[in-house]
Amino acid sequence: MDPRRELLQKCQYFILDMDGTFYLGDDIIPGSLEFMDTLKKTGREFLFFTNNSSKSPEVYIQKLAKMGCNITREQIMTSGDVTIAYLNTYFKNKSVYLVGTPALEKSFHDQGIILFNDNIENYVPGNHPVERKPDIVVIGFDTTLTYQKLERASSYIRSGSLFFATHLDINCPTANGFIIDVGAFCAAIQLSTGVAPRYFGKPYPETIEMILAHTKGRKDELAFVGDRLYTDVATGVQNGVPGLLVLSGEATLEDVEKSKIKPDAIFANLKEIADLLE
Ligand SMILES: [Mg+2]
Repeated sequence: MDPRRELLQKCQYFILDMDGTFYLGDDIIPGSLEFMDTLKKTGREFLFFTNNSSKSPEVYIQKLAKMGCNITREQIMTSGDVTIAYLNTYFKNKSVYLVGTPALEKSFHDQGIILFNDNIENYVPGNHPVERKPDIVVIGFDTTLTYQKLERASSYIRSGSLFFATHLDINCPTANGFIIDVGAFCAAIQLSTGVAPRYFGKPYPETIEMILAHTKGRKDELAFVGDRLYTDVATGVQNGVPGLLVLSGEATLEDVEKSKIKPDAIFANLKEIADLLE
């Protein structure tokens, strides 16, 4: 018997990556909907999870709906949501200077985070001492990033604010190649301040903790599924949860050979997982 079948029997709650796993850009990967049907038929559950903290979960809900996959807000989580949940659990009522898109700001605000407002009009670099500072600086995937935000974040961190980031990805893949992402913003701030960030999102254990708090599930039921070794698969294998690789996106078998992160099982795509679950 295929040993992957035995492993899959134990997986009751699938944490699914989206791009490269469920769809590729704007196209659904063939078999993804059959996979969702199989989960339903066999009484299993799922949560979509993305490290991308620049967009609102609503954007993904609509994108998935156009592909014939209808989910609720409860069935999707971003690295921004994990960071918010963590702040609400361990840093309740602390003020946060957020470097993020308006969509991320709205998520933080709607979920009760106190956003620090620096109220600087007519900003001139170097003209603004750190008189008040936030308790925490959070760096998100801010596609509206400015010098002012980068400088304020660095100045606050230099004067003692905690330094958090929603996720570690250095680049984000797009149809036109890579675009700069949070890990690279943080590298600049770290170089300036000498302070290293604390990251959330995949592959960090806080993500599993916050997913379990959100789903009210058990750790031994979970499985992480995705096309990237160092985020999707690593979240599982580095934290005692099955990490399942699909070859429908970024990673190839050659990458697996070279990587220290070894998936618990490898599948061509979600359809192959569905076939083995039937
Ligand atoms: Mg992916």
